Amino acid sequence: MTTATLEKLALHGGPRTVPEGTILPWPPKDASDRDLVLASLNGTNHAFGPNCIELQKEFAAWNGSRFAIATNSGTAALHMAIAACGCGTADEVLVPAYSWSSSATCILHHSCIPVFVDIDFDTMLIDPAKLEEKISPRTKAIVAVHLHGLSADMDPILAVARKHGLKVIEDACQAHGALYKGKKVGTLGDCAAFSFNQNKCLSAGEGGMFVTEDESLHRNAQQLWSFGETRAPSESRDFHAYALGWMYRTSDLPAAFARAQLRKLDGYLAHQRRAVSRLAEQLAGVEGLLLPPQPDGRVWNGYNYVIRLDTSHLPSAQDAGAYRDRVVKALQAEGVPATVWQKFILPSMTVFRAQNGFGAGHPWSHPLARPVVYDPAEYPVAQRHCDTHFCIINPLRMPNGDAAVDAVARGIHKVMANLANLD
Ligand SMILES: *Cc1c(COP(=O)(O)O)cnc(C)c1O
Repeated sequence: MTTATLEKLALHGGPRTVPEGTILPWPPKDASDRDLVLASLNGTNHAFGPNCIELQKEFAAWNGSRFAIATNSGTAALHMAIAACGCGTADEVLVPAYSWSSSATCILHHSCIPVFVDIDFDTMLIDPAKLEEKISPRTKAIVAVHLHGLSADMDPILAVARKHGLKVIEDACQAHGALYKGKKVGTLGDCAAFSFNQNKCLSAGEGGMFVTEDESLHRNAQQLWSFGETRAPSESRDFHAYALGWMYRTSDLPAAFARAQLRKLDGYLAHQRRAVSRLAEQLAGVEGLLLPPQPDGRVWNGYNYVIRLDTSHLPSAQDAGAYRDRVVKALQAEGVPATVWQKFILPSMTVFRAQNGFGAGHPWSHPLARPVVYDPAEYPVAQRHCDTHFCIINPLRMPNGDAAVDAVARGIHKVMANLANLD
């Protein structure tokens, strides 16, 4: 490492640490993907076809879930979860202040009101100690996001939920195969949503899955999923819309792709976990970096390796984001595909702050609604995390190997050794 770290930064015309073409794209494809997708194409049922039905069965078996419904996105599955849990107009749902936007917009999709909860800095996940102060008489559910592939701290979350009669929805869109006390995510709360978007661990272009152990939740979700037709799949369709439904079904081609990828998922996850350990070993002790912890009792899936910069030397917390952006720019110049995953915490996003989801202020303007305030200053931990983090994703995934991980580690070493020369 020492020779590389002495070289001039690529930002200033020095040699790139990670040569162009080193990091290969996700996901890898082979004959098994082509065979299943081509068979689907050559078939005659391209809507919710046989691959969709098999994918539901295979994913449920893989995850140990009783019921599974294949959707066209993780967001659709999240909306189904909100509805399935009986959340209705102007009910409140607790959600972490830092996540993907649709962990919270799915709440709005059902005319419910998101109430944000600050995160725990170390794990970057919803802080169970801050749940109770956000509960009101209108609170119906908690969305526990297993962000970056690490399970939320489910025991205290479930304890608060039981005490107050709330449902728990797991946003497992990033967390396929992550474990909490030996149990797979998606089997811990009342129901859960997974995503099969291209960037996720199970990648099918787009797609998702709703899972639950509960028969009545399964039935509720199914109604929303397909035009409000309330009949069970064993009954024949009568094409009557009994209730308000959406069209969240997936189609046969992406389901065929997802099935082929699912067969390789355990191998992918084992690879990611090894790659993450290798990167963590090489970055241990680098001054100025805060590496993610692996809390006892939780096995993560290596989805996204999130590094925070130590910004305690900066004169003001307000400078953190600009400093992080300069470091990321220098990393990218070295060829390290470092990214800022979220530039904004959720309570600072306009869709929430404007309180006008459907026009005329709905759902916040509804007579049953309790006034809520979205003040980003109430979420200092989420803000600090947001301003100081950057992520490494693809180098840790198949088909990238040790050489990619090592090159990325060298690039990070070089930039961190040259912080004084960033400007
Ligand atoms: C990707 C993602 C979603 C949404 O999944 P889509 O399939 O893109 O709709 C929701 N929550 C989290 C945490 C995600 O990462």
